[in-house]
Amino acid sequence: MSTRAAIAFKTEEGWSGVYSHWDGYPTSLGARIWDTIMKEFILNKGEIGIANDGSRSLQSFVDVYIKGHRGGWSSFPETCYCHDPEFVMRDGDKTQEEFMDQDHSDPLFIEWVYIIDPDMKTLTVLTHGRSKGLEHNKVVDKKTGEVRKWDSPKYAHYPVVVLSLNPDIAEPNWEAIEKKGGEISEQMSKKFETRYGRSI
Ligand SMILES: [Zn+2]
Repeated sequence: MSTRAAIAFKTEEGWSGVYSHWDGYPTSLGARIWDTIMKEFILNKGEIGIANDGSRSLQSFVDVYIKGHRGGWSSFPETCYCHDPEFVMRDGDKTQEEFMDQDHSDPLFIEWVYIIDPDMKTLTVLTHGRSKGLEHNKVVDKKTGEVRKWDSPKYAHYPVVVLSLNPDIAEPNWEAIEKKGGEISEQMSKKFETRYGRSI
């Protein structure tokens, strides 16, 4: 199922990261990010991939899997849009794409965000839901000049959980995290309906 997400690193303003297309929910993408970080960057003593330990390990994940694949992931961590031969044939060079960030990503479509903070050694999971506001949309028909206006709900990202990334920690309960994210989205929809009604 195409559940769109962002795999990101922490910045002063919020986060920056790359697009992920398939199965972006915590029980799938969350678990895959966790496995990759643990196997290749935290527990790895040099046998697999690019190994580091200590404080550089999470920065290496950011450098290799986010900054090294600016085109984003069709399916993390196997197929990216910037190096997979078929996608490169189809789309051209995507190795220099801009990152998406908290101000340049549409929370309506980006349902989950995973933010790695190498300094704090955390993985933060955000979900999406309706915000309190409305978006005022306007489209001008190029032929007739007719203006069409409508309002639609704005979406925003909301924090679900902050996970500590250290070698001693047990694998998080991704099902519980996914459920909590769903509950947050539902609460935001209810708040929105209380304010604007169900019709929008
Ligand atoms: Zn790539």
